[in-house]
Amino acid sequence: MAEPTLFEKILAGDIPGDLVYEDAHCAAFRDINPAAPLHVLLVPRKVIPKLSDAGDDDVDLLGHLMRVAPRIAEAEGYGDAFRLVVNNGAEAGQSVFHLHLHIIAGRPLKWPPG
Ligand code: 5GP
Repeated sequence: MAEPTLFEKILAGDIPGDLVYEDAHCAAFRDINPAAPLHVLLVPRKVIPKLSDAGDDDVDLLGHLMRVAPRIAEAEGYGDAFRLVVNNGAEAGQSVFHLHLHIIAGRPLKWPPG
């Protein structure tokens, strides 16, 4: 069996994580190195290394993440102004190879991102 990813270990409680949301399909916890006043990582329980590895059978799961993310932003007080980021691949800035959405809010966010 493959070594559990860092995020699987957090979801399993083997590594401490500041959980803000969980359900049967995903969980969310605060980023250890926040880029904004709100910086939460929304992670599916299913291990998909990166978005481009997702398949047609993951469409419901991906849709679920997109429904949950605004609810988390709302619950954290940023329902009207937040950004979702998915880094896909090392060259795009991905460092943990377990698909995750960054939910970022609470400061002015420039466009385009760096
Ligand atoms: P990526 O670079 O893969 O898009 O995002 C990975 C994120 O995971 C980074 O923002 C990084 O700060 C965060 N991170 C790395 N290690 C840990 C950890 O042990 N705990 C938490 N909560 N976040 C982590």
